This record gives sequence, structure tokens and C-alpha cells, in this order.
Amino acid sequence: MSPNNKIPPGRTIGIIGGGQLGRMSAVAAAEMGYKTHIFTPEKNSPASQVSELTIVAPYEDESALKKFAAGVDVITFEFENVPAASVKLLADLKPVRPGWQCLEIAQDRIREKTFAAELGIPTAPWAEVRSSEDLEKALGEIGAPAILKTTRMGYDGKGQVRINQGDNAQDAWKALGSDVGILEGFVDFVMEVSVITARGIDGVMESFDVVQNHHENGILDITIAPAPINDVLRARAIDTAEKMAEKMDMVGLLAVEMFITADDNILVNEMAPRPHNSGHWTQDGCKTSQFEQFIRAVTGLKLGTAERHSDAVMKNLIGADANDWETITQDGENKLHLYGKSEARPGRKMGHVNRLYPKGSGPKI
Ligand code: AMP
Repeated sequence: MSPNNKIPPGRTIGIIGGGQLGRMSAVAAAEMGYKTHIFTPEKNSPASQVSELTIVAPYEDESALKKFAAGVDVITFEFENVPAASVKLLADLKPVRPGWQCLEIAQDRIREKTFAAELGIPTAPWAEVRSSEDLEKALGEIGAPAILKTTRMGYDGKGQVRINQGDNAQDAWKALGSDVGILEGFVDFVMEVSVITARGIDGVMESFDVVQNHHENGILDITIAPAPINDVLRARAIDTAEKMAEKMDMVGLLAVEMFITADDNILVNEMAPRPHNSGHWTQDGCKTSQFEQFIRAVTGLKLGTAERHSDAVMKNLIGADANDWETITQDGENKLHLYGKSEARPGRKMGHVNRLYPKGSGPKI
């Protein structure tokens, strides 16, 4: 490593996790002259198809982690749910960006909400619950409807139980099937948005424009860039994400999902310390994509401009949607991105399509 912490092109970036986020990051790294090594428990992962080397082992395998660290110059994550002991082991051997403190907060919904509260950033009302009695009490305070979520490992709406007025707390607690959960008041939002902020090793931040996200069955379906909100809300949403990235001393990307309510409150829902599905539009709609920005940040380079040059719509291809690749590519305006997954299971993210529009003329939903 050079004295100013820059990892020059030609060196190797280690990515923990082998999914599509790792794949698209590895492609961006290759475009800038870096090699990538992947650590994943999954054979033939999307990321390993485009990387120099893959170590296939469980995230707890110490000797495999050491071998991985020996072959790379810097380590990052496309998947944040890695055990603390593994991250510590890696950090003793090579620079790990972002650092453990960012992962630790993002791994756990209770830590995430506590962190937001410490910064004075509003969230849905919430309570930690460890039994059906706790849940009963929390429901009394927060009220129904509410959502009971696992505190860890929840994604794409998994690990969530909706509780309506009159529902039985014991049944909901059983349905969650976990020994700790978080009860969140149901937010009657008018729009879901997200912001992705990149923060370089020098502390300089570049945020992508605020986007609107539409979910189907708990999975992101469509992202609209920019979100149809006024400039005041836009600035507040970006400020929220930047405050969080700064406080965490993040080096890398921070994606923050937020709810906007009818009275213009912005409530943080969750965050991820890595590239994010709601940033895929940046591949085609911005001067620097989230993946290039991620690579620039973790290698210690100066960030690129996050400026949006077009309006954009990103549509996820879930399960069998990806079989329509031929129709999709018939239209020359569609930019098809597929992840190299051979099995199109229902609910599985197989790819996405970006479509650009001149600034100010993109469709609204
Ligand atoms: P999450 O896994 O927390 O991102 O939740 C997935 C989706 O469920 C969110 O994008 C929202 O559409 C919905 N959701 C999650 N939490 C809440 C909440 N407290 N109130 C209303 N909707 C929610």
C-alpha cells in the first residue's frame, strides 16, 4: 500500500459476497484496471464469473479467510451480514473498507434505529421485543397496524410479520420464529425513496440524486430517478444520508431507504453499507455509476462526480421475468443487465433493465 492509503490500479480488491452487487462491482473494478477476488459460500456465484479468483467457504472459515486476505490489497463487502470475528480477523491482515463499525450498525435493525435516534434522525416508532409478553406491551404503546421484523438477516421483505388491529400477539411472535425482534409502527407513507452517498477516504462525500422506489411483495420492483419531490425534501433526504455516512466514518457507499409522509416528514427505514439495488440506474444515468464510485472509495481514489445526466427508470427482473431478454433487447432504448444466474427461482433477482429519458421528461408512477 502506498503511504497515502491509495491502492493503485493493477492491485487486487477482495470482495466478501458473490452476488450481483459483487459482480457489477468487479466489472467496474476491471474497467479501472483492478483485479478482484471473491469470498463466498456459493459455488459459481455471479461475482466469481467475472473475477480472477474465488474462495468458496463459509464466512466463519478462518483459514479460508486468511488465505483470501493474503491474496488481496484491500477488502470490502457486497454483503454485510458477516460475523464480527471474521471481519476482525480480516482487518488485522488487510485494510477493510468500510470498517467494522459501519457493518455492525447496518447488520442489526435495533442498532440502526438507535444510531438514527442518536443523530436526531426520525424513524418509525419502534420497540425491541424478546417474548410475546414484550410484543403485547409494545403493541399497546405503538398500536396496530405494525410490523414485527427480525433484527438481523432480513431482506426483500423476509423476516417480517404484519400485525393488524385485533391480531393475536402470541401468533405473531410464533410466526416470526426468532428470539429477538423489533416492532415498528406502520408508516402510512406517500412515497418510498432512497439516497446513496459515497464517502471517500478523505471524508469527501458525493451523493446520487434521490430516487423513488416501488416494491412488489416486499421486493424492489421499480426505481424512478429522480424522485418526484421538491428541492427542500430532496436536500433533506441527501443531508440525512450524508449525516449518517459521516458519523459512521464510512469509506465506501451508504444506501439509506426512507419513507416520506403526507406531512413531509422523512423517516429512515433501513440502510446498507454497500452498493444497493436502488442505485442500479446510475450505471446508465449518471456520470459515475455507484459501482465505479464504490471501487474509487475503497481503493482510496478521489470520487467521481455523481451527477445525473438523464432521468432514468430501473425495472428489476425477478424470477421468470429474465426469460423475456429477447423482447427487452428488441427495444434499443432498453439497457439489459443480467447477473449470470442459471436458475430463475420465483422471487430471485435475475437482472434489471435501465431506460433513460432526457432530463425532466422521465415517467412518473
Ligand atoms: P425492509 O426490509 O425494512 O426494507 O421492508 C421492506 C418493505 O416493507 C419496505 O420497503 C416498505 O415497503 C415496507 N415496510 C417496512 N417497514 C415498514 C413500516 N414500518 N411501515 C410501512 N411499511 C414498511
